[in-house]
Amino acid sequence: MVHFVGAGSGAADLITVRGAKLLEEADVVIYAGSLVNPELLSYAREDCEIHNSAEMTLEQVLAVVKDAEAAGKTTVRLHTGDSSIYGAVREQFDQLEALGIAYDVCPGVSSFCGAAAALKAEYTLPDVSQTVIITRAAGRTPVPERESIRSLAAHQATMVLFLSAALAEKLQGELLAGGYGPETPAAVVYKATWPDEKVYRCTVETLARTVADNGLTKTALLIVGGCLGKEYLRSKLYDPCFTTEYRKGAEP
Ligand code: SAH
Repeated sequence: MVHFVGAGSGAADLITVRGAKLLEEADVVIYAGSLVNPELLSYAREDCEIHNSAEMTLEQVLAVVKDAEAAGKTTVRLHTGDSSIYGAVREQFDQLEALGIAYDVCPGVSSFCGAAAALKAEYTLPDVSQTVIITRAAGRTPVPERESIRSLAAHQATMVLFLSAALAEKLQGELLAGGYGPETPAAVVYKATWPDEKVYRCTVETLARTVADNGLTKTALLIVGGCLGKEYLRSKLYDPCFTTEYRKGAEP
């Protein structure tokens, strides 16, 4: 059995209770060493066999899993944040299916949630944006052209950019060309929820400079949108005049 486990965005105590239990029980752990907090490995047993996937290919990961299966062992594949976001898990799922190896998935706190906590932000603010676009700039690995930053920017929704700090200059140009005003609030969150987390607030116009001035090339999220600003409407849900399934609203 292979358990895919989301490690959370950084702080070791942000793994789920279920994920921690799976780690405690694992015979073999394959963790994404480039981003997973190594402190999490202390949840594993002393005699647990540990592999760092940052130094491995897909084939090598699968070879470890196959050996573990043959020996009747349980493997935890520990991915950073939540494995559904840039986790390269689908290719592993499909190979395991083909090999007839059972697996399941335990979700984790994605870094975009960790960053919202660091910013004390609500991504979906009434009258500002009800949509969160999770995307990345095209770099060494491509992004489908129909999802260009410029075209997504037209919505002026809340946008969270993964894997894009090193491309901030070009990205800023695309955000502006696509429709965000230069004064649109933005932020860079470095190592969200890690002990050395840093939050930099800026605007779309100063985004690239903020990234460059602080030497942020990796483990950073770029967040853009009016939700980081001051203007919004209060919610209907908690409005005294609004009736819901659970509460009768007062006459206006
Ligand atoms: N599955 C992960 C994302 C993996 S892609 C998740 O759900 O968070 C790797 C990228 O995620 C990094 O380049 C960076 O842009 C972002 N990232 C991961 N952890 C981060 C953190 N703690 N703070 C800021 N960005 C982070």
